[in-house]
Formats: sequence, C-alpha cells, structure tokens
Amino acid sequence: MEKNPPLGFSGAAAKIRAAVDGQRLLDTAVALVEVPSPTRDAGEVSDRLAELLTEDGFQVERPVADWPKAPAVAVRLQGRSPGKVLQFDGHLDTVHLPFVPPRVADGKLYGSGSSDMKGGIAACVEALRVLRDTECLAAGSVLLTAHDHHEAPWGDRRQVRALIADGYVGDAVLLPEYLAGHLPVEGRGMGIFEVTISREGEPVHEVLRPENQPNVVDAGAELVVRLRQLDVSLGAVTSPHAGRDSVFVGKVQAGEIYNQSPTQCTVHGTRRWVTPGGVEAARSGLDQLFREVAESSETTLEWEFEVPGDAFRVNPEDPVAAAFQRACRQITGAELPLGGKPFVDDGNVYSTLAGIPALTHGPDATGAHTLEEAVPVAELVRVAQVYALTAVAYGPGESGTIS
Ligand SMILES: [Zn+2]
Repeated sequence: MEKNPPLGFSGAAAKIRAAVDGQRLLDTAVALVEVPSPTRDAGEVSDRLAELLTEDGFQVERPVADWPKAPAVAVRLQGRSPGKVLQFDGHLDTVHLPFVPPRVADGKLYGSGSSDMKGGIAACVEALRVLRDTECLAAGSVLLTAHDHHEAPWGDRRQVRALIADGYVGDAVLLPEYLAGHLPVEGRGMGIFEVTISREGEPVHEVLRPENQPNVVDAGAELVVRLRQLDVSLGAVTSPHAGRDSVFVGKVQAGEIYNQSPTQCTVHGTRRWVTPGGVEAARSGLDQLFREVAESSETTLEWEFEVPGDAFRVNPEDPVAAAFQRACRQITGAELPLGGKPFVDDGNVYSTLAGIPALTHGPDATGAHTLEEAVPVAELVRVAQVYALTAVAYGPGESGTIS
C-alpha cells in the first residue's frame, strides 16, 4: 500500500470529516436495529455486525467471552506505526421492551436500540472504515469490541468482564452511550440492595397474634426511616461532578390483607457513592444498620447486594481526554464542558477491572429504555468524526497494554 506523507492534525480532520459517509453509516445502523436483540439474546445481531465488518474487509474475531449464545465481536485496525491502542466498546443488546423496527424520518433514525446503542456502534464502525480508507491513523491502533449482557436486570455484564479478562482491552476506551453535552469525568458507583425481613410462624389475624410477636411491617418501616436518616448524613460526601453519596428506597412490599400480620417484608433500593473503591464501605455501612434493625425488632434479616459498577474518575488531563477534546475542537469548534456521568455503564467496569480511562460519549439521542428511541443522523456522523479524530490524536506514544 502506498504511504502518503503524514498530514497535520487539521489536515487529518478535514479528510476525516469529508470521508464519513452519512448514508453508509445510516445503512449500518438500520442493519443492526432491524435485528431484535434483547439482552442475553444478541447472537443474531452480533452475527450481523460480524458479517458487515467482514464484507468491509476487516479481520473479525468472535471471542466467546463467557456467553456462547452470542459470541462478542472484535476488530483491530493498525495504524502506520506502533503506538497506543484506543478501544471503541459498545453493547449490542437492548432492554426487554416490545420490538420497534427501524424507521428513518426527518433526519432521525427510530427503533429499538437506535439510541442505546446500535446507532453509536454504527458510528464506531464508520470511524474504523474512515481511518482505514484515509490512512489518517499515523500511529497506534483501534480496537472495536461489541457484546451482549449489558442491560440490567437481564444481563450481568459477564461478557464485557470476560472480554477484559481475555485481553480485549485498549490503553483507553470510548463508549458511545447517549451522552453528548458534557464530558463525564466522574461517575457514582451503585449497589442495589434487597432486604428480606422475616419472623417465625405463619401469617395470623391481627387479633389472634401472640403477645410480643415480632412485626415485620414495623421493622420494615423502621428500616426505611433509618435509611432516610443515613441518606441525610451521606449527603455530606460529595464530589464536584459526580454529586453526593446517597441511599434510596424505591420498593417496599409486605402483607396480603389489612388485618393479617404477615411473616415477611422486603425493602428494595439503591446505595450510590462518589469515591472509587467505595464498594466495601457502602456494604458494611448498610450491613451494620440492617443488623441493628433486626436486633431491635427481633426479626430475621437477610440481604443481597448487587454491584453493577464502582465509582470512577478520569483525570481531565489524561491523554485520552486531551485527544478527545482536541478532536471536538476540530470537528465542532468547541471542547465539551466537564461533568458527571448520571448512570453506571460499561465504562465503570473498564475503569475498575482494566484500570484504563473510560470516556462515555455518544450521540445526542433520546428515548433510551422506552419505545420512542430516536437519534439524529447528523449526530451519528458527528460521533464517527470525533471518534476517528480522537484515535488520530491519541495514537502516538507507547502502549501500556500487551494486546
Ligand atoms: Zn446503553
């Protein structure tokens, strides 16, 4: 292949901007949206993505990554010389809602996963094509990964964890979730707790209760009040962009009828924290509170704590953040303001398990987790341009990974 002399950064930006093909990108997005892929059942759309990439001439890998039903998709694009590896990572599964087929109208793509996040994955694919065709990637490489098992409560993120364990990891990762207005440099960790309070014996009419029988509804109410008090004190633990520590109860369940004393009460909610590595502190704080309530109410209390992701921080001076902002300046004329990430996404997993900086940035799309998903095609084009140019800016330097 003929090697062109290296372009300046603004020259590369102009080339990339011109090379991103909106119709080709949209066709890719439609081809992904039209294959239903509820979480844990994304095999068919993973196959579709692999076919598209193979037709485009890329070498496609299909790591099983702990989910044989839907092997993941991975592609590597090498630049002209060695350098850092920028990863683009997306999930191909969608939430379990009735399937909405793709439709294009008024410059927007509608349909299941168009916002979250097949549109974003199509933008990553377009960025790869453009980097290859323009030969703008002077140094470093890009690793594209796409997988299943993201959306809770159906998925448990086992596939992204396995990809990381198997070495499908860059020096930094970009994730095209629907967040466009600011660059999230902090995000809270989250744990979901489900407490089951129970007493011995059978349900009984209130007037037939033995004297001093423990009351699980009272214990549940006490627990909710104590958690409310905990939330007030947790409000003092803050971080500039992520917000505050918190505890929240969203669901309490007990009882069959108004005058019967039940044997079980469940309390279900979330604990969020701003400090990376805060999982154990959050867990033990809740555990102590729950023990105290069980003891004072003379009930039995069991609880589960599921942690979708730890808190994370990215240094705004990190080379990937600098490369991203430089790309934004070239493509849109402005850097993004720094902010927090309102949700837990796979970026939290990358930062905790792989120890790499993770930037969540995608199209300004709407309707995630509803039947009304919509993404402007112009936003997909912008994301493809920004991703490709970020790779150009990030590549020079020494890779810290072995992949
Ligand atoms: Zn998503």
